[in-house]
Amino acid sequence: MADGFAQSVKQQADIVRVIGEYVRLTKAGAQSFKGLCPFHKEKTPSFNVQAAQQFFHCFGCGQSGDVFTFVQKMENVGFPEAVRTVAQKCGIPLPKREFSSPEEAQASRLRSRLLEIHEQACGYFEEQLQSPEAARAREYLTSRGVTAEAIAAFRIGYAPDSYSTMRDRFQSSFDEETMRASGLFSSKEQNDGAVGPLYARFRKRITFPIRNEAGRVIAFTARALDNDEKAGPKYLNSPETPLYTKGHVLFNLDKAKQSIRQFEFALLVEGQMDCISVYMAGITNVLATSGTAFTEAQVRLLARHTRQVVVNFDPDTAGANAAEKSIALLIEEGFSVKVVTLDGGLDPDRYVRERGTPAYIAALRSARRHSDYLIDRARTLFPPVTPDAKVKALNFLLPHMQHIPSRIARDEFAADAAQKLAIDSALLRQELKQAAFARRADVSSKAAAAPALSEAEKLLLRALTLPAGDAARELARKRLAQEPALYEGLAASSLLSAFVAAETISNPFDLAPDEASRHWLAAVLLHSSQEIQPEQVEDAFHSLRHSRLERRQRELRRQLAEAEQRGDATSVQELMTEKMTLDRALREN
Ligand SMILES: [Zn+2]
Repeated sequence: MADGFAQSVKQQADIVRVIGEYVRLTKAGAQSFKGLCPFHKEKTPSFNVQAAQQFFHCFGCGQSGDVFTFVQKMENVGFPEAVRTVAQKCGIPLPKREFSSPEEAQASRLRSRLLEIHEQACGYFEEQLQSPEAARAREYLTSRGVTAEAIAAFRIGYAPDSYSTMRDRFQSSFDEETMRASGLFSSKEQNDGAVGPLYARFRKRITFPIRNEAGRVIAFTARALDNDEKAGPKYLNSPETPLYTKGHVLFNLDKAKQSIRQFEFALLVEGQMDCISVYMAGITNVLATSGTAFTEAQVRLLARHTRQVVVNFDPDTAGANAAEKSIALLIEEGFSVKVVTLDGGLDPDRYVRERGTPAYIAALRSARRHSDYLIDRARTLFPPVTPDAKVKALNFLLPHMQHIPSRIARDEFAADAAQKLAIDSALLRQELKQAAFARRADVSSKAAAAPALSEAEKLLLRALTLPAGDAARELARKRLAQEPALYEGLAASSLLSAFVAAETISNPFDLAPDEASRHWLAAVLLHSSQEIQPEQVEDAFHSLRHSRLERRQRELRRQLAEAEQRGDATSVQELMTEKMTLDRALREN
C-alpha cells in the first residue's frame, strides 16, 4: 500500500465519524469526544477522540493512535487492510491494489470473490422463493406471519430441491476454488480418495442470509421445509469459511445498530424468526444470537454499541439455560442486563403476533433486573424450604454473583438473595468475599484460605444438614452419637456435636456456635450440592477412625521417647503394648 494513498485517506477521513461507528461518542469539548473504551472494560468513559489532531487516547488502558491504529486494533487487521477499510467507509476510491505479500493478495482476492458469490447466492434464493416450486415455502412463511415486506427486508429466500441447478448456474460465473471455499456447495470423497463433484448444500429449505456488521452477506442459515428424517436438521448453517466464523456474528446487527445507539439498549432474542417478527413490529434494536448462548466474541461486538441489554429468550429449558450463560458473560463484561419473561409461555415471535406490539413493549418495560430473574429462577428450581434446597439455590446463584464486577452491585444481589431465600446475609457476603478472593488467588493460597477441615468432616457436615429422615443424615447422626470420641479435638467438633443433638434443623447456621464454624459451614455447604449415599458416610467414619488412630500413634511415639529418656521401664512396657495393638489396628483399618 503506497504511503501517499494512506496519507490522502487520513486527510480525508474523519476520525470521529469512523470511531463513532464502533463506539458511542458524546461531545466533551469543542474538538473532543468521549466514550466507553472498546479495548478495556470500563463503566465511566475514559476513551477520548480529538477531532482537531485526529487521534484517540484512552486514559484507562493507555491505548492511543490515529484512525488506522484504531481500525487495526478493532478489526484485528494489518495496516493495508485498515487503510482500505477506512477508505471504503469514507467513500474514497481505492487505487490499484498493492499487497505486501502474495499470500495476502491471494487471501484478499478470495475474500472478495466469496463476498460476490454470497451476494449472488442471496439474489438467487430470493428469486427462487417466487418460483412455483416454492409455494409451500411461501405458505409456511405466511403461516408464521412473515410479510412480503419482511421477506424483502431480510432477503429471505428458497433453496430449490435440487443438487445441481444452483451449481450449474454458478459454474459460469465462479471458479471451482471459490465455489468450494464458499460453503454453499458440498462434495463427497470418492472411493479413490479424490474429491467428488460439487452439489448444492442447501436444498428444499427457506434461506436466511447472515450479514456482517457492514450488511454484506457472509453465510446462510436455512430451515428445512419437511420435518422427516430425510430432510436433515431443522436448521442448517453455512460451515466456517474465510468470511464466516461461528459465534462471531450477531444476526441483524447491521440493521439494528443505529436504533441500539438511539434507544441505548439492545434487545437480545434467540432465533432469527423471533428477531424478524420483533423487528418488523417496529422494535428495531433487536438482535438474535441464533439459537445458542452468547459467545465472548459476540459480547465484544455488542459492547461497541451499547452496554445495556434486555434478554428475551425462549421460555423452555434450553432457552433458560442459554439465558443464564449469556447473562453470566454479559455481566462479567460490565453490561447492565434485564430479563423479560413473557407470560403464556410464548416466545417473542408468537407474543408479538398474538398480543401485538404495545403488549410486547409493555412486557419489555417490565423487564426485571437480572439478579431478580436469577433469584426467582433459583427459587423455582430449588424451592428453598429445606436447608439442602437453600444450599442448592445458593450454589446456583453464587457463580452469578461472583461475575459481577462491581462490589456494591454484588452486595446488593447477595442481600436480595439472602432475603428471598431466608439465609443469613452477612454470611452470604462473607462467602462471596471468600469466593472472589479464591478466584484471584493462585492454587496454593486458595488452599491456605480454605478451612482446615478433612474431607470426612466436610462430608459429615453436609450429611447432617440434609432433611430429617434422609438415610445418610440418620446414619451419620447414629454413628456420631455412638462414637463421640471420633470427632473429639477436630476443627468442626463443636459444630458436629450441635448437629448430632438437633432432631431437626431449619437453619444450620443457627446452630453454628462461633464465627469460624459459620464460616466452615458456609464453605462446605455452598460448594457442593450432590446427594450423599450411606456408603459415603461409612467411608467418612472409616477415615475418621483411621486418622484418630494415626493421631494416637504420633502421641504414643512422643510418650515412648519421654519414658525411655526417664528410664521408666514400666511405662515403656505399657506403651509398647498399646503401640503394637494400635499398629495392628492401623494395618486393618
Ligand atoms: Zn481503554
